[in-house]
Parts: sequence; structure tokens; C-alpha cells
Amino acid sequence: MRTIDTVVIGGGVSGLIYARERALKGEQVLVVEAKDNVGGAVWSHTLEGIETNTGAEAFAIGRGAMLGLVNDLGLGDRVVAPATGSSFIVGDDRAYASPRNAVFGMPAKPLAKDVREALGFWGALRAWRERLVPAKRATGDDVTVAEFVRARYGKAVLERLVTPIIRGVHSADPEKLELRAVMPRLARRVQELGNAHKAIDEILDQRGVRSSSGSAVHSLEPSMAELPKALARDIEAHGGHIFTHTPVTGLRASSEERAWIVTAATQATAVTREFKARSLVIATGPEVARHLLSASAPAIADLIPVAPATPVRLATLVLDNPELNAKPRGNGVLVDPASTAIRAKAMTHASAKWEHIHRAAEASKPGRNVVRLSYNPDADGSLPDTERFPELAIHDAAAIFGLQASDLSVADWALTDWTGTMRQSGPGHTAALEALAEALETQTRGADAALPHLELTGAWRAGNGLEAITRFTREIASR
Ligand SMILES: Cc1cc2nc3c(=O)[nH]c(=O)nc-3n(C[C@H](O)[C@H](O)[C@H](O)COP(=O)(O)OP(=O)(O)OC[C@H]3O[C@@H](n4cnc5c(N)ncnc54)[C@H](O)[C@@H]3O)c2cc1C
Repeated sequence: MRTIDTVVIGGGVSGLIYARERALKGEQVLVVEAKDNVGGAVWSHTLEGIETNTGAEAFAIGRGAMLGLVNDLGLGDRVVAPATGSSFIVGDDRAYASPRNAVFGMPAKPLAKDVREALGFWGALRAWRERLVPAKRATGDDVTVAEFVRARYGKAVLERLVTPIIRGVHSADPEKLELRAVMPRLARRVQELGNAHKAIDEILDQRGVRSSSGSAVHSLEPSMAELPKALARDIEAHGGHIFTHTPVTGLRASSEERAWIVTAATQATAVTREFKARSLVIATGPEVARHLLSASAPAIADLIPVAPATPVRLATLVLDNPELNAKPRGNGVLVDPASTAIRAKAMTHASAKWEHIHRAAEASKPGRNVVRLSYNPDADGSLPDTERFPELAIHDAAAIFGLQASDLSVADWALTDWTGTMRQSGPGHTAALEALAEALETQTRGADAALPHLELTGAWRAGNGLEAITRFTREIASR
């Protein structure tokens, strides 16, 4: 068995970014992926000739890590901006625009018209009074998003703006989500600047773009699947190898050879293969990482935080409804969690938001539109039954557009489930990651280390979203 420089377990975007960075440095790399395609939660499908994303549909442009990567990959001419900036928050009996000058719903200008329309006068006034709240209030290390927002901006901002946006973007309950895990610098900047208004304004200034959905985004044409495809091409062009359909089932560390022995089941031929690696990277979810390391590196495995995943079910509908070309709900909506009439948590009007999807839909049939609804588990933890689709999605889309279900004409539809991608970072998550980083440093780095070189990446460590995993993974891979 030859020793490979770097073996990466998991061919999602995190694993591919790591592998590409090392391949560019001249290392021999191998990516081992369980499914039959790379990309993980970044892939696409084609309905009625229209290519649309099955998972991530865009990337945040704020801090520029993803933009830098797509340019390095030669995808600069594929980058597209949303056609419209507006989005809405919809409840049973009201719909309001998501305020423009805000971060995850925390307004920089609380008395602006769009904030007053969302919160009412008293809610807006309470939000304005945030500047009078002492800088130290609700800015500790373990504070949750909900504790921070409630204490500083008041209940209306939490319930009407932040909760629908956090549910829509992170599939998470702000009551359980650590603030530091989603906005690492916010609490510290509030302490330094004196209040959250100044900190939010600073974030918006740094982004240079003010959007209604919490973060300014771009996408790739024809779909985000161009990203993993380009990463894979680059890895292979630099001599790397990618094995799909090859789940890793076991690991052991060989101390005499200072190498990892990786066992994988090649499903196609039903045989087991072994690979020997000087450096091992696990880029799967935390459960698989913990399981694989439990025998050979139990001290590291025990430090991997739980970060449970929220399952997401996506329903894509292709609709022959030319009246939707008027974009009645802008880019789409986030649903008020108190809504009893709409079961979806969010809906993207994909052909309104992205001009290239509109063109593909028009080419498929004039007046055709594409919407994508997302569903989280209900209180008992289960996703709506697949038997209820497409009717449930048609009902929800109609309610969101202010139409009757019978008004919508469905040309095609598809369901996609993501059960292990959207990670929840509860209080204590950041501190747990710091302890893990220290253990990796002392136990797997350098000639005297107890274990061969090991690195861990993925959304559970880097943070949800392509911008976060790109920034984190490129940084650790370049060390
Ligand atoms: C529905 C949805 C919408 C999203 N929308 C956006 C968005 O618009 N913008 C944005 O920035 N982010 C979005 N995200 C988040 C973003 O997609 C993820 O943060 C990112 O794709 C995570 O990449 P990853 O490589 O860390 O993990 P994954 O994509 O989960 O990749 C992990 C890979 O490991 C493989 N694997 C697991 N076990 C094994 C094993 N034993 N052996 C080999 N391989 C294994 C899996 O098959 C998978 O391919 C969205 C996520 C979801 C689910």
C-alpha cells in the first residue's frame, strides 16, 4: 500500500476545498466520498429542462472568501446577483417587508418606515432604545441569539424579524443558538462600541451591500453545482483522485509508520479497500467524525461537539402561472413561526430572484415559474410526511402568494431531504471548538505528537454556510 500525502473523507464543499488547497501545493491527495456525486449539500437537479439547486442556492458575499474562491476557480463570469432585493415575512394575517438596513433582522435604523411597518411604533421605539442598554448586558460568551436580541432590542424584534430570519437561514431556534457561533464578533464589538446599533452599522458598512434577508448574496449560473464541479476538476488537474460511492467505514493510526489507515467500502464492487495517509482530513458531519475516531483517537473523538443537525425537506414546484412574473413576494418569504395557515418555514421564488432561472423557465415554457419551499420538523421532531406532497407545498405557495391552491398549475415537482447538513451550535459550542483545536494541535502536530496529522472541517466546525466553510477551510489547509 502506497502512502498518500492527504486523504480527505467527505467530498462536500469543505472536503473539496481542503483537498484542492493541498493539491495546489503539490501534494498527492485522495478524496473519498460516500455518495455517487461530490458536492454534499451543493448540487442541482433539472425539472422541465430548468436546472435548479437541490441544496444551497447562493453564497454570502460579505467578507469575500467565497467570491475569492470562485474567481480562483475561473468561475468569475458565472457569478450572478439577485434580480430583486426585496423579501417578505408572512404570517396568518399579515405580510411585511423584511427591513433593508438590518443584520439577521436587527435593524440599524429602528425608526425607518420599513421597521415601523414590521414592528409597529412601540416595537420600533423599543428597538431604538437599544442604544441606552448598557454595553455589558447580554454580551457574555454563552449568550444565545434570543437572549441577546430580547435584552437589547425587545420582544418585537425577536419575534417579528430575527426568529423568522434565523429559522429561514439557519433552520435554527434562536433560543438554542449561540450568538458567537453565528456572529463571532458581534457581542465583543457591542462591548467595545457601547451598543449594538453601532456594531450592526459597522457590519453593514463592511459588507458594502444592504439587503433585506440578513446577508447579501450572489449565486452561480446555471447552478451552485458549478462550485463542487470546478473544485473537483482542479483537484484532478493537479494529480489528485476522487473516489465517489466509497463510504469510509473504519480508521486506525499506525504509530510506527506515522500514518492513518483508512478503510472504505467500494459499493460498486462490494469489496473493502484500504488507503494509507500521512495526513487525514475528516470533512463529514460530527457524528461520523466521532464514530470514525472513537477507537483510534478517543480523546479527540470525545471533544467533538454534538452540534445536532436540523433536517430540512425542500419542495421544488414548477408552476405554469404567468401572473407570478410580477414577483408578488419579491425574492420570496420567511414565514412567521406563529403561522398556523402555512407549514413551510420559507419560500424562495427562484425564477423571480435569479434572472438566469427566469430565462431557463421562460425557455421551457413562457410564463413558467419556479418556487422552492423549505420545511423543518414540527414540535414532535418529524418532517411533514412525504405522502402530503405536492399538495402541502401547493397549498403553502398559494397562501404565500395570496392565491387559492386551485389557482396554481403544477408542471413538475420534486422533494429533496437534507438530514445532516444544517448544524445547530448551542451555548458552549465555541468553547468546545477551542478545546478541540488545542487537542488537535498537541496530539496530532509535530514529530513528537501521539497521532499522525489529523484535521477536521465541515459546517459544524466552521459555521453553517459556504462563506464560513470557505474561509475556515482555506485557512486551515494553508497552514
Ligand atoms: C437546504 C439547504 C440550503 C442551504 N442553503 C445555503 C445557501 O443558500 N447558502 C449557503 O452559504 N449555505 C447554504 N446551506 C449550507 C451549506 O450548504 C453547507 O454549510 C455546506 O454545503 C456544508 O458543506 P460540508 O462539506 O461541510 O458538508 P456536506 O455538504 O454535508 O458534506 C459532507 C460530505 O461527507 C460525506 N460523507 C459522510 N459520511 C461519509 C463517510 N463515512 N465516508 C465518506 N464520505 C462521507 C457526505 O456524503 C457529504 O458529501 C444550505 C444547506 C441546506 C441543507
